[in-house]
Amino acid sequence: MRRLRKQNMYINAILSNATGYMEINLSKDKIVGDIIDASLKDEPVVIDYFNDADKLDRSYNEFERWWSEIMLVSDKEEFLEVSNCDYLLSCYEKGMKMVDVYCRCMTSMGTIAENKQTYYLSKDSASEDIMAMCVIYDLTKQKNLDMAMHHKNLIIQKLADDFTAIFYVNLDEGTMVDYRVDTMWDFWENEKKEEFDYLERIEQFAECYVLEKDKEKYKYNLNPKTIKNKLKEQDTYFFDYCVKEEEEIHYCRAKIVEDNYSIENSFAIIGFKNIDEEMKQQRLLEQTLQYAQHASRAKTNFLSNMSHDMRTPMNAIMGFTALANANIDNKEKVQEYLQKIMRSGKHLLSLINDILDMSHIESGKMVLNESEENLAEILHDLRSMLQEQLQKKNLDFFIDTYEVREELVYCDKLRLKQVLLNILNNAIKYTESGGMISVRIIQKENQQREYGNYEFHIKDTGKGMSKEFLQHVFEPFEREEKNDSDDTQGTGLGLSIVKNIIDMMNGKIDVISEKGKGSEFIISLTFKLQPTKRVEYDFSQIEGQKALVVDDDFFTCYTVTRMLRELGMRTEFTIHGKEVALKVKKAKEEQDDFFLYIVDWMMPGMSGIEVIREIRKEVGDEVPIVVITACDKEKIAEEAKEAGVTAICEKPLFMSNLKEVIATIYEWKEIEEKKKEVIMDFSGKKVLLAEDIEINQEIANEIL
Ligand code: ADP
Repeated sequence: MRRLRKQNMYINAILSNATGYMEINLSKDKIVGDIIDASLKDEPVVIDYFNDADKLDRSYNEFERWWSEIMLVSDKEEFLEVSNCDYLLSCYEKGMKMVDVYCRCMTSMGTIAENKQTYYLSKDSASEDIMAMCVIYDLTKQKNLDMAMHHKNLIIQKLADDFTAIFYVNLDEGTMVDYRVDTMWDFWENEKKEEFDYLERIEQFAECYVLEKDKEKYKYNLNPKTIKNKLKEQDTYFFDYCVKEEEEIHYCRAKIVEDNYSIENSFAIIGFKNIDEEMKQQRLLEQTLQYAQHASRAKTNFLSNMSHDMRTPMNAIMGFTALANANIDNKEKVQEYLQKIMRSGKHLLSLINDILDMSHIESGKMVLNESEENLAEILHDLRSMLQEQLQKKNLDFFIDTYEVREELVYCDKLRLKQVLLNILNNAIKYTESGGMISVRIIQKENQQREYGNYEFHIKDTGKGMSKEFLQHVFEPFEREEKNDSDDTQGTGLGLSIVKNIIDMMNGKIDVISEKGKGSEFIISLTFKLQPTKRVEYDFSQIEGQKALVVDDDFFTCYTVTRMLRELGMRTEFTIHGKEVALKVKKAKEEQDDFFLYIVDWMMPGMSGIEVIREIRKEVGDEVPIVVITACDKEKIAEEAKEAGVTAICEKPLFMSNLKEVIATIYEWKEIEEKKKEVIMDFSGKKVLLAEDIEINQEIANEIL
């Protein structure tokens, strides 16, 4: 009977996926009967372990040690600790009927098999020995299945991650269970129910959050009837809508998926997610596409205009050359034609230069060359370069500095000039005669001591730009009016080049403009400052002395008085020329005369020259009077001298300019002798000209 029962147990064990078994007498450390391995064939086979004479004593502990040799090293110790006779006996004594031990073995295929050995503990009633029936299970398949399932669930969960709320809906009964909810659906959470009334909740949500324009769509698409109908034709569908939460509008998407396991579509899974980011990306893509289309259209337009733009000056050159030829004996006419040829040639050249600059920038070939530069010099250069054009067009020009403390910087002089010239040329080009152009350089506060932040404000009272055009003003080939008159000819590339250079300098450019009123370009740039140099002159002679600044512009007064104070002087200023005589008289009465006068040349009301005459009348010839002017020194020199001016200083007035002029007045500095022009004589000298282009050879030859 006992044998029969045991046999039944073995069979049961094998049927329950066991891969092997053996019976052990734990009290005697003996394996009873055969060790059966059912993993090799359909029929269990007996492991021929005991054939070896050494193993005849059938020790179970020995067998386990032999068996543990194929185990992973990390599992071996624990396996032997649990699977030995002493431990199992102690378990039986504690009343345990079953002990499990897990181990991983290397198979002959090189893979890892996961095993479980279960010991069923009992007492043999006849011998009173403690027996164990050890059944071995192979868990590999199950483990692999579990892993695969876990992995699959993880993937599904990850894929569903962006759905902030997921519901399982019984469409027939109108109930739902929430699988995941987000903050928007919070009001559901207060009711701790297993199931909710689906329609009631959808209505509630629509009322609380969905934008009016999307309410109908929302309710229709989530209605159980609609869901059933739609899911008959497709497995899934979605729709988008907008919600308003805490005054902010968000884009959302609801996705409805059929539950394949349910019969007749009576169950559905609904996921809700925020698609703000997707919409943003989409809008960005649309904008990029629009931009690309716009840029491509602009380029196509340019190319088609290009032939015209280039042909016009080219035709002029050809035409006037022919005319000059035909009138070769008429000197005046030939001169007039040559001037016109020159003008057209210049325009053609600027067009080609702009195109080359653009292609340089676009191909990344343009690099900045920073070196030690003086902002004062750069701006004075610019002013004199523009003087002729300004005068020709009869434009008032103002240029000054405000709070500029450092003027010695590291920058790419050529590119900075190119930027400022471009904008100033535009200001001149697009401002009618009699208009006004002003330039102001402001140094802003900067946290980093080694850097200076500068703003260049270039303002004109010209024709201005429309709001629509301002959005495209920095795009290549864009011009507000394509068919301009002769003197407003242009390529539409200037500002695009400017913007690119400023970007390279890590700067910023803004435009404020109104059609018919004028424009203001504001350029912000940061330059590394040069280490401070020693003071060149000894200003102690003027320390504590009083100076008067006269300029109709408050900011210039403020800037100049600040500079003078920095040199140790006491200062007063006035923006009204008429006040000067009063101030001079008062100073005389108080016996605290002004030691130095700084007067603006161009002032409304009482002009600079009149103010100077007044001063001279009061104080005589000795006291120095310095004139500051936005014009060229030479232009006003004679008139100024007659009125009694001691020195002229060109605007914009930087600290270095003020120091120079004071040093010159008090003769701390020798007035530079004008360099004598040296006329070189190369007659009879031999020159080697290396030039491969024939026409250039001809021109150079003629000049030489
Ligand atoms: P352009 O060679 O045509 O001057 P830009 O790139 O320098 O090319 O300028 C582009 C366009 O911007 C000009 O054609 C003009 O319509 C407008 N613009 C630029 N500066 C001014 C300004 N100061 N006042 C009015 N319009 C301006």
